[in-house]
Amino acid sequence: MAVFVYKFGGTSVGSVERIKAVAEKIKKSTELGNHIVVVVSAMSGETNRLTGLAKEMQAQPNSREMDVLLSTGEQVTMSLLSMALHDLDCPACSYTGGQVKILTDSMHTKARIIEIDDVKIKQDLDQGKVVVVAGFQGIDEHGNITTLGRGGSDTTAVALAAALKADECHIYTDVDGVYTTDPRVEPKARRLDKITFEEMLELASLGSKVLQIRAVEFAGKYNVALRVLSSFKEGCGTLITYEESQMERALISGIAFNRDEAKLTITGVPDLPGVASKILCPVADKNIEVDMIIQNIAADETTDFTFTVHRNDYQKSKQVLEETCKELGAKQVTGDDSIVKVSIVGVGMRSHAGIASTMFKVLADEGINIRMISTSEIKISVVVDEKYLELAVRALHKAFDLEKEEE
Ligand code: ADP
Ligand code: ASP
Ligand code: MG
Repeated sequence: MAVFVYKFGGTSVGSVERIKAVAEKIKKSTELGNHIVVVVSAMSGETNRLTGLAKEMQAQPNSREMDVLLSTGEQVTMSLLSMALHDLDCPACSYTGGQVKILTDSMHTKARIIEIDDVKIKQDLDQGKVVVVAGFQGIDEHGNITTLGRGGSDTTAVALAAALKADECHIYTDVDGVYTTDPRVEPKARRLDKITFEEMLELASLGSKVLQIRAVEFAGKYNVALRVLSSFKEGCGTLITYEESQMERALISGIAFNRDEAKLTITGVPDLPGVASKILCPVADKNIEVDMIIQNIAADETTDFTFTVHRNDYQKSKQVLEETCKELGAKQVTGDDSIVKVSIVGVGMRSHAGIASTMFKVLADEGINIRMISTSEIKISVVVDEKYLELAVRALHKAFDLEKEEE
């Protein structure tokens, strides 16, 4: 008998009607003899609503309490879905992450899963029940509720699929698969039948929120068969796979972008050993993640140092950097929090020269100024002004032949 883990995102469980439709879908699958574990997100908008409430209580909400609060969103959905299944005479039982138990570390609001106890789930499956699990949450060794970061229900689903050695993990969402870029920005984006783990990992880490990056990491590590599908319409979605050879041999598989970027520059820094660490250690000490880093050598033996951070960390980073500026006797700190990162991703890049120059030419032809560049084996990222995001994505999408055939 096949075991499947199905995950339904916020829009897919966004109303009573949709939860009922999900229940129908699950019931149909059980009637085919499948064992189903369902992971649910909070109803759409709920996690944002709860975050808003928290911020009204405390400017920087206590992270332990934030997790207690945010975990309630998924708890609402799991019980409602379980009720809907009962209503269809489909035996079901819902569990919070802590009840399962999904053990995590104690990094509140971005915890990592350490271990999953699958005993209860297996017992329920053996008794013919559908098991509904609240996504996005776990419990630490001290019994505190934790959450896994935005989009974390994807990771709950994949981790459960790995623990249960499920046949497949289906991520049901509001698009019918992984596209060459976000179809909301480029309506001509094309659905991919397959994509490699490596490419999906890059796309996710560069901002494509269709899958949480940790979910892809987990699936790759434990070899979970992972598929992204629509919860609204039939179809086979996109399979995330290792099989590179059978894939359409495109140079570029997809374009990702991230709007949550900000950059900071410290100029006139003495060009001496240890300066990079003197600039970045105080930033790291504040738990701020740094992404791209660029250092220039100037003729007068001072250097300019630029890096990007999440937009939410912009003000905090600027304060830290102004302190460092004084300590190092540097010239000044400047910054910009209206920038975005656009990246092209593809394993085909490994064996082809000239992709970067094509990318830069396309942007130049559109009059888009590139502010920063970073590359790796299978991706090229540029930082551009926010106002150019859509234009850059669409121009690159066209130039690299990613558009779907005209209907
Ligand atoms: P859910 O609530 O189901 O988890 P998300 O909003 O987290 O859904 O993810 C689905 C969204 O991801 C889509 O609506 C789409 O706008 C966005 N997205 C970004 N990049 C891509 C891509 N390359 N392919 C498909 N969807 C993408
Ligand atoms: N509800 C959480 C969020 O909105 C987790 C998830 O949906 O995956 O980020
Ligand atoms: Mg999501």
